[in-house]
Amino acid sequence: MRLGGPADHLVDIHSRQELIEAFNWAKDQGLPAIMIGGGSNIYWRDEGFRGLVMVNKILGYEDTALGHGKHSLRIGAGEIWDKVVARTVQTGLTGIEGLSLIPGTAGGTPVQNVGAYGQRISRVLTELEAFDCQTQQFVTIPNADCAFGYRESRFKSAPDQGRFFITSITLRLKIGNPAPPFYDAVQVYLEAHPADTVVTPMMLRDIVIQIRQSKLPDPALVANNGSFFANPVLDTANAQRLQANFPDIPCFPGDDGMYKVPAAWLIEQVGLKGFHDPETGMATWDKHALVLVNEHAKSTSDLLRFKQKILDAVAAKFDITLVQEPEQLP
Ligand code: NAP
Repeated sequence: MRLGGPADHLVDIHSRQELIEAFNWAKDQGLPAIMIGGGSNIYWRDEGFRGLVMVNKILGYEDTALGHGKHSLRIGAGEIWDKVVARTVQTGLTGIEGLSLIPGTAGGTPVQNVGAYGQRISRVLTELEAFDCQTQQFVTIPNADCAFGYRESRFKSAPDQGRFFITSITLRLKIGNPAPPFYDAVQVYLEAHPADTVVTPMMLRDIVIQIRQSKLPDPALVANNGSFFANPVLDTANAQRLQANFPDIPCFPGDDGMYKVPAAWLIEQVGLKGFHDPETGMATWDKHALVLVNEHAKSTSDLLRFKQKILDAVAAKFDITLVQEPEQLP
């Protein structure tokens, strides 16, 4: 978002050894330490941070063929996520091609259990390695111990938020093609560009890139955190209440009998899509209401006031409290 105050100390981390040295340095100084990846899904307090920010630049991409077309990939947490996706589709692997062009690093993907177009990281991650700041040891955490939920994991919630510095993730992918049915946006693209062949991972990646580029701002050019609110997950009673009052509302059955409602639709319905707010210098993106962009905001407090306007308008009309997706650090 290009907002918030400065950190007192910042260091790039390229290895487990550098991580330990930096962690011990902060401990000796009596300073708090936090680790970030690409910074795409966080914003900072105006007060800044009186501690050490460690930027994860740990690289690595080890591809082990397991037989029967299955591959295990151990990926350094500091790898640029989209480059990882590009490499997997070049090998013909399916499982993460729908997560193309998502900004940030590989180590960031389990934190909010990144997902898109029917794929999500929790479906393919077998385990990850992290430095546990409590025990000051490297630990291997299997998928079952990550407490994955919809855009959720133990790494972004109490009591473990900030406890683990993720150093690598291990994925299990397989050679093959993504299976239909595809999301509407993908289907619409396929119908407009008919091809004789089946959809390969490379094709689905290209389609997702086209879709994302057509409706999302490039974070290198326009300051934003991607989707600023999670899509609400509602129980049956709440979904039925909304469908009775708003018959056009898109409502998708999700896990455990719950229903997902597009937060972008809710924001659009309260008239805040493409809303350029002169008071805060913030706006919602003209082509996607879920993306908040910093046009000329001066501070994080401008962002928070803008966020509140959206929360209030959606709550007043739909009686739904949107939950923000990016983390406010520290
Ligand atoms: P979208 O595709 O319009 O989807 C909005 C909501 O409707 C999401 O909750 C999505 O579920 C659900 N949905 C749409 N079509 C569906 C289908 N055929 N089956 C089941 N559920 C369906 O949203 P968008 O904002 O344009 O984003 C495109 C994709 O990127 C979505 O999958 C979205 O979730 C994902 N995304 C993820 C993140 C993240 O991981 N932090 C951030 C931004 C966008 P799902 O969320 O389960 O897909």
